[in-house]
Order: sequence, then structure tokens, then C-alpha cells
Amino acid sequence: MRIAVASGKGGTGKTTVAVALTLASQEPVVYADCDVEEPNGSIFLRPEITNVEKVLVDVPMIDEAKCKACGDCARFCQFNALVSFNTPPLVFSDLCHSCGGCAIVCPTGAISWKKVPVGEISFGSSDGGRISVVQGKLAVGGSLAPPVIRKVKSYLSDNVFTVVDSPPGTSCPVIESLREADYVLLVTEPTPFGLHDLKLAVETVRELDTLFSVIINRFDEGDSGVEQYCEEEKIHIMVKIPHSRLMAETYSRGGNLFDAIPELREVFRDIPLIIQRGVEAQ
Ligand code: SF4
Ligand code: SF4
Repeated sequence: MRIAVASGKGGTGKTTVAVALTLASQEPVVYADCDVEEPNGSIFLRPEITNVEKVLVDVPMIDEAKCKACGDCARFCQFNALVSFNTPPLVFSDLCHSCGGCAIVCPTGAISWKKVPVGEISFGSSDGGRISVVQGKLAVGGSLAPPVIRKVKSYLSDNVFTVVDSPPGTSCPVIESLREADYVLLVTEPTPFGLHDLKLAVETVRELDTLFSVIINRFDEGDSGVEQYCEEEKIHIMVKIPHSRLMAETYSRGGNLFDAIPELREVFRDIPLIIQRGVEAQ
């Protein structure tokens, strides 16, 4: 089973929840860090990294001797990765989605491909091998998160319990990370901002037609807006995590949720079972 942990915005405790779910599991588990702009699950899981692999994508290379500066490729590119002013096109690799279309429309065969690195995948394990970590990381200054996320997902198996730490927000990288998840846990906080972003995240998950529920972090600190919304929308609240000053201190030292609130370990241990029953009941 694959459970993705997502949130409409950063700073809600998404990684705290994903790490807690991983640590509480009593079976072998894979922690897939798809928050590729800021992968920090490893700070808390402390895996021993055994392998690092580059993520490469194809971007166009223009043969100026063959190019007749027609501009067809630049007009075709939906992502503005090619710019031509009646000249051989300039290539903006960071914007290229490697769709291959420009080479198809080029009438002179002037476009070939070169590989450029957009990020890397680290592999490791902790807790005597029970926890496997697959961590995606975007290259410094890089902006193409989806290929890095797709690469992380290419190493995941349907046969092992997997926790996916999704990027925050509701944009393309989030959607890429949520695809193929059996279930999504949306982490939020009980504030007007939290509610606003939760609504966007709920829309996204409903669009993907994936089962989901909500975890409210620091539930005793804010207002009741999130709970009211969940009641109106018939959204299950899986866990309400209380505010704990100790949590902030523990977190800053690389500790986890259970170091601060040990009684939550049992609650998190049972979440996959509850989800499994819900998935099977569908
Ligand atoms: S491969 Fe696709 S995205 Fe990249 S430059 Fe060509 S048309 Fe644009
Ligand atoms: S389509 Fe081909 S020939 Fe035309 S500008 Fe692009 S690379 Fe040059």
C-alpha cells in the first residue's frame, strides 16, 4: 500500500507526519521523499546512504549548420524553452519538458538531444534495514521537479508499504507525487490560511479520485474552521495532533514526533490498518 502525505502549504508538519507514519510501522517500509526542493525526512530517519544516482533529462541541441532559422520549433514549444528571432533557436534547458515535439516539427533534422542533470536520487536504510529511504533532490537552481519525482517513483514497488512525502502546495510536482497513491493524508493546521490551502488540496485530491482524510496539527491552538469544513464536506479527520512546545525543541534537534508525544506512536501504528480497511471497503 502506498500512502502519500501532502499539505496545501509548507510548514504544517507534513514531514513530521510522514516520518511518524514510517517510524510507527511494524513492517518493512519505504520512505519516498518526493519533496524534492527541500527533502528533509532523512534528518529525522538518519539513513545510511549507500548509493546516489543522477537524474538526467533530454534537452534539444541545435545543429546550426542544418538549421534554416524557420522558427517552427520555437512556435511549437508550449513551454517557451526555445526562442528564435529568425535565428537558430536559443535553448532554455530549465524550461524544457523533454516532450520531443520540436525535433518532430523541425523540417531539416537540425535537432538532436543531450542529457542534462536535473537532480539526484539517494538510496539508504535505517533501523537495521527495516526502513528504506529513496530521496529525490532537485539540482541547485533547478526548476523541473516532476522528472525527479518520477524517478523516485520508478523505484517504488506496490508490494511494500510505502510512505510518500509529497511537496507542499497543489501544483504539478504535487500531482505527480500523488499519482498511484492508494490514499492521501492531508496535513493542515486550524487557521484561516490552513483552511484556505486545505480546500485547494481537497479539490486536487478529489480531482485525482483518491481516497483521503485529514490530519490536523496543533489542533488546540487555532480556530474550529477546519473541523467545521471537514464536517460539512464529510471528510474524515484521522488524527488531531496537539500543540507541544517540546515538539519544536525536539524537532530542532532532529527528534521525531514520538520523542515529544510518545502516546501518539500507537495512534500512528494503527493508521495503515484503518486506511487498508477503508480502501478494501471501496
Ligand atoms: S522537447 Fe518539448 S519542451 Fe523541450 S524544447 Fe522541445 S518542444 Fe519544448
Ligand atoms: S525547426 Fe529546425 S530549422 Fe527551424 S528553427 Fe528550429 S531547429 Fe532551425
